[in-house]
Amino acid sequence: MRIGVLALQGAFVEHISRFSFLGVETSEIRKAADFGEQFDGLVIPGGESTTMTKLLHDLGMLGILRDLISDGLPVMGTCAGLIVLAKRVEGGVPCLATMNITAVRNAYGRQLGSFETIASFADMGDVPMTFIRAPSICDLGDDVEILAVVNRRIVAVREKNQLALAFHPELEMDVRIHAFFLDMIAGN
Ligand code: GLN
Repeated sequence: MRIGVLALQGAFVEHISRFSFLGVETSEIRKAADFGEQFDGLVIPGGESTTMTKLLHDLGMLGILRDLISDGLPVMGTCAGLIVLAKRVEGGVPCLATMNITAVRNAYGRQLGSFETIASFADMGDVPMTFIRAPSICDLGDDVEILAVVNRRIVAVREKNQLALAFHPELEMDVRIHAFFLDMIAGN
């Protein structure tokens, strides 16, 4: 298995390190031509959704990526990556708009928006979660499954081939969420 990691901006190196810990190869996706490489799933990392949106647009990558995801490419978006996937964005402009959710940008406020907690994720029990100026999720489509809730806010969802997390699993030693994404790809 090989995972493409969108490497325009943000926390992509940390995702690569987590996959390498799991023995999974990765490719850095930096330009439209890199979509020609073979990979089984794609990560859109945390960072700044406005900057990532602008770069995807300017580098001519937006339409190709939207088509790949619509055609079933498994994708995991973390934090800014969640915002990039969302159809509706409160406090921002939609980018790929492939996932039937509303992302609320900076849902915890800009200053107090960073914290760590431990919460239940899907059926795997408690996992550590680090939030950094994080979004939350509301207004889910019928096909969207809720995987985690923190302080009554939805922080992780799955819609078919798309997984979106408001927190940063790549900053943890715990690799179970990366393994969850690999299982998702295997079952796809
Ligand atoms: N607040 C950022 C945004 O709106 C996301 C922060 C993050 O990815 N850690 O893009």
